[in-house]
Amino acid sequence: MELTKEKIKEKALELGFSSCGFAEAGVLETENAFFHNYLQEKRNAAMHYLERNPEKRLDPRLVFEGTRTVIGLLLNYFPSEALPEKDNFIISKDAYGRDYHIVVKERANALISFMKETDANVNAKAYVDSGPVLEKAWARMCGIGWTGKNTLVINPSRGSFHFIAIILTDLLLEPDAPETDHCGNCTRCMDACPTGALEKPFVLNPSLCIAYLTIELKEGIPENLEGKLNGRVYGCDACQDVCPYNRFAIPHELPELLPSETLKSFRKDDWLNLTEDQFNLMFKESSIRRIGYKKLMNNIRSASGSTEIN
Ligand code: SF4
Ligand code: SF4
Repeated sequence: MELTKEKIKEKALELGFSSCGFAEAGVLETENAFFHNYLQEKRNAAMHYLERNPEKRLDPRLVFEGTRTVIGLLLNYFPSEALPEKDNFIISKDAYGRDYHIVVKERANALISFMKETDANVNAKAYVDSGPVLEKAWARMCGIGWTGKNTLVINPSRGSFHFIAIILTDLLLEPDAPETDHCGNCTRCMDACPTGALEKPFVLNPSLCIAYLTIELKEGIPENLEGKLNGRVYGCDACQDVCPYNRFAIPHELPELLPSETLKSFRKDDWLNLTEDQFNLMFKESSIRRIGYKKLMNNIRSASGSTEIN
């Protein structure tokens, strides 16, 4: 059986991906100036890993030897029901279920296995939030979404609640047309951002972004921003919830991404009294475990204004 892009796409959809597209590997010319300005203006905040290997980030052929094609994949995580917000702290929808790094990587690797079974000469490697790969830029190049003013990848028919996986391969496949910007005059995400982190269209100041503050920032949340958390203790979906393209979001059907019964039953008091043992058990397979118990409890303290947490 010949390995065509149609067969790869068909298999990707069978594996649960919602979109699959292809791009010719090369230097990301459009992102070149933007990325260097981004670093120069220190907009990466404490994400210093972004300063390493900038030339690799702009050219995937330097990341995985022999790369000729980039495959972009989206995995939908939009839930059929949001966790209750009343008398509760809020976590972002991407953290409801099992750690997406694992869920998405497993599927991307299954797609690579299929490619290798079909053509034993194929070499390929998957990246999910790992390696120096500009995932959002490649999603655009693969025609599966554009980067909206909220700096997230939006698929015109599916919205933005999806994880991204990128596969680099030496297989030569016909590229799809890159996606174009469909934000138009809309500014809903910028208007809805509680902290003003979207300073300009397509420009995010991570030092003000609740997702960055509650997940990436190692230190405590600055006091002047605590009042803006509105109960958010892990991530923030405010700029996605208002995006008109998410009106088309279809709930996912992946059991691994569903919240546990314990998480569904959790309310403020449960979070406030969460012990480290409970945390380890409850978030054993969740991306929330990556920030650690102390950081989560500090976030809860910041979000609640309470100082009574151990
Ligand atoms: S994630 Fe929240 S804080 Fe960050 S830009 Fe979006 S709305 Fe603003
Ligand atoms: S809310 Fe509007 S401006 Fe923001 S990403 Fe969505 S479409 Fe673009």
